[in-house]
Amino acid sequence: MEKATRKWWQNRRGASRRGFLKAAAGVAAAGFWAEETIQAYQGNVNTNSKPSALRITDLRFAHIIDAPMRCPIIRIDTNQGISGYGEVRDGASVTYALMLKSRILGENPCNVDKIFRKIKQFGFHARQAGGVCGVEMALWDLAGKAYNVPAYQLLGGKFRDRIRLYADTTESHDPKVYGERLKKRREEGFTWLKMDLGIDLVEKIPGAVTAPAGVTQRSSVWTKHMFTGMELTEKGIALMCDYVAQIREMVGWDIPLAADHFGHIGVNSCIRLGKALEKYNLAWLEDMIPWTETELWKQITLAVDIPTLTGEDIYLKEPFIELARNHAVDILHPDLATSGGLLETKKIGDAVMEYGHAMAMHFAGTPISFMANVHCAAATENFLVLEHHSVDVPWWSNLVTGNEQPLYEKGFAVVPDKPGLGVEPNPDEVKRHLAPGTGYFEPTENWNNERSWDRLYS
Ligand SMILES: [Mg+2]
Repeated sequence: MEKATRKWWQNRRGASRRGFLKAAAGVAAAGFWAEETIQAYQGNVNTNSKPSALRITDLRFAHIIDAPMRCPIIRIDTNQGISGYGEVRDGASVTYALMLKSRILGENPCNVDKIFRKIKQFGFHARQAGGVCGVEMALWDLAGKAYNVPAYQLLGGKFRDRIRLYADTTESHDPKVYGERLKKRREEGFTWLKMDLGIDLVEKIPGAVTAPAGVTQRSSVWTKHMFTGMELTEKGIALMCDYVAQIREMVGWDIPLAADHFGHIGVNSCIRLGKALEKYNLAWLEDMIPWTETELWKQITLAVDIPTLTGEDIYLKEPFIELARNHAVDILHPDLATSGGLLETKKIGDAVMEYGHAMAMHFAGTPISFMANVHCAAATENFLVLEHHSVDVPWWSNLVTGNEQPLYEKGFAVVPDKPGLGVEPNPDEVKRHLAPGTGYFEPTENWNNERSWDRLYS
C-alpha cells in the first residue's frame, strides 16, 4: 500500500472507532468531538498566530525604482509578529497608502472585506486607487499567513495551476527590430504577445495624420481622445497596416498578438483603422478611447471585427459591469492595483462572465503585486492572460525570496502553495533599488493619528 493511502486508511479506521465511541458515549462524546475538532483546526493554523486576536500595529513602505517603474511596496505589521506585503500601483504616490494607516490600526487584518469596505472611499480611478489596493493585497497576505493557506484558497480555490502571461515589449518604429523582439518573446516561451501600435509611428510622415496645428500625440496625452481633433488619413492607416503585416509575418499567424497605445485619435479613425487591421487577426485593440465612453466603445466594437478591450484605469466593479452589460467591449482588463485588489477583481471576473466576457489582467510592478495577480488569476474562471512588464529587468525576480519555484517560466507564472501571497521581500536586493532619499520600511509614526470625519451618509 502506498504510504499516503495507508495513512488515509489508518485515519479512516481511527475515525470509525471514534464514531463508535461517540455513539456509545452520547452527549459526553459529542463534547470530546468538539474539542478534537478545535485542536485539529488549531493544528492547521500558524502557531505564531491566534487569528481572532490578530491586530494591525503598523504600516511602512520601501519605494522601489527602475523595475522599470516606480513601485512602493508596503508592509503591514501585527501584534503577533507576522507581517503582510502589498504594493501601491506603479507610478503612484505612497501617500495613497500612508493616509490609510490611521484608519486600519487596531483592526484585525483577517477581516479583509470589512476593512476594504471601510477604506474604499479613499480610492479612485487609475493611480489614486493604489493605496486601497496595496493595503488589500497585504491583508490577504496576512490572513493567509495567519490561517496557513495560500491567498487563492481564501478566494475559493483555483481553476488552474499555471497563469498564462503576456510580456510588454519595448517598441521600435522599425518593424524588423520590433518583430525580432516579439519573436524572441515567443522563443522564451510566451504564448501571447502584445505590441504598441500608436500614431507616433506615422505622425511625422507628411499626409499620414490630420491634426489642428500644434496638436501632437505628445501634446494631447491629457486630452480625451474625442477632443483632440486628430484623425488618421488613408495613407496613415495603410502605413500602420504595413507595419503590422511585417510583424505578423515574423511572429507567426498562430499566436495571439494584441495591440495597444494607439494615441488620442477620434472614434471614426479608431473604426477605420480597426477595420483595416481585421485581416491581421489581432487578439485585441486596447484602450482606443477612454473607458468612460460606454456608448462610443460600443460603436467601435460593433463596427470592428477584432476584440476590443479596456479597463486598466477602472476602480471598483461597477464600471466593469456597466461595460459588460452593454457589450461595449469584448474583453475587460482590470489592473488589480487599481480595480480594488484580489477579491474585487475576482468579483469583476465573475460579474462580466455572466454577460459572456473574458477577463485579461493588466499589471506592471514588482513580484509582490505580481503574486497578488497570480493568486487572483488562479481563482477566477474567465481569466485569459496576465501582463508582465519587467521581463527585461534582470534583478526583478530577486526582489523576493521564499518562492520554491521561479516566479515564472516559459511564459507562465507558477501558482505557489505557500501561505498568503507566497513571497517575502529580499532585503539586500530591495535596498539596492530604493528611491533616493527613502529608507527600508522605516517608521511612519507621523501617519498614526490622522483623523477626519469620514462618514459618507449624513
Ligand atoms: Mg494598456
